[in-house]
Amino acid sequence: EPKVAPSIKNDFDDDELVAFAENLENISPEELERRAKKKERPNNPLFKYRRGVLSVSDLSAQIWCEQQLYYKFLYPFVLNDEGEIKRVDDKPHMLCGTALHLERELEIQTKVSIECKTREDSYGVRLLNMVQGINGLLTWNKPNERYITREMPIFGNMYGGKLYFRGIIDEINYDPRTHQLEVVEFKTRASKTAPKPQQTYTHEVQVNIYRTLLDELIQGEVDKSLYFERFNLQPSTSLCDAVRNEYKDRGFPDIDTLENAFDLLMRLAFRMPTITTNGAIEYILQSDATWKHRKEFQRDEKHLQDLLIKSEPFWLGTREPEGVDIEDAFKCQWCDYGEICAWREEKANEFSRKKKRLN
Ligand code: SF4
Repeated sequence: EPKVAPSIKNDFDDDELVAFAENLENISPEELERRAKKKERPNNPLFKYRRGVLSVSDLSAQIWCEQQLYYKFLYPFVLNDEGEIKRVDDKPHMLCGTALHLERELEIQTKVSIECKTREDSYGVRLLNMVQGINGLLTWNKPNERYITREMPIFGNMYGGKLYFRGIIDEINYDPRTHQLEVVEFKTRASKTAPKPQQTYTHEVQVNIYRTLLDELIQGEVDKSLYFERFNLQPSTSLCDAVRNEYKDRGFPDIDTLENAFDLLMRLAFRMPTITTNGAIEYILQSDATWKHRKEFQRDEKHLQDLLIKSEPFWLGTREPEGVDIEDAFKCQWCDYGEICAWREEKANEFSRKKKRLN
């Protein structure tokens, strides 16, 4: 909103003031269009805090405690035990997880720097990462060895829903002998103990989301115009030379725009020999990566669909955030917002009222 001195406010109505200020600022037509679009966007958590696209970990965080997720949006900084102001998610184990992911990626892949000039360029590179991963599988010529790709971006709106997701799949592997395609998620552990069911549950949901998004991509069930709309991208913008050359070097000389890149991805994904069969989580010890605990599990589509039905109204702003149920109150012990949590207070009051009645 342009700032205008109150003294001149009486002489204009609001629209005239905005037009006057924009004129002074000499704003480009593209910027004006972007601002107009922003004003049209709904005022709900999905657009207010996530610009219309959720990360897969947003849903995991929501499953853990929706009220906590909402507090993170409202108060992203907290005081740590040393009295320092910290971003709430800047925890040592999280930083360790990021380093471990990079290490695992570099075991089988080489990082290449590409200089991007526009948002479309950087999305062109993300699509290239997907093209590379899928094309590698399609051209795999070692019939007795598993094909592995790591850190592959993924996106989509599952089951044609209103929520749009993006994420990075830690590992996809394919066994050419059995035609089994597996999605694997890496997690770190601080101690050599298997995680509790409450912890593995959110991780399983995360893997199931990745499997569903990947399968929808393979089956061609991805809405092209929705992709460009949600990420606010211009499909026909020319990609810069650096990005075009990367496509060319990998055997795709005809990619000039983001739309070309998107179509290429769809064509390749559609040629994939199978949809995902397995899902697994690999827990790795932070201090010693040789300690691993692997959990494999079956997909439960009905459960995922039910979860999305429950989650959607919060993101669309049609219901208030909810905290944990009484049987999950153990989660409150580690929560940064325990002292201000209205949900927790309400539940504690409810509990003492019940207790009084019983006495
Ligand atoms: Fe959720 Fe408990 Fe934290 Fe409240 S105190 S936000 S209910 S985990």
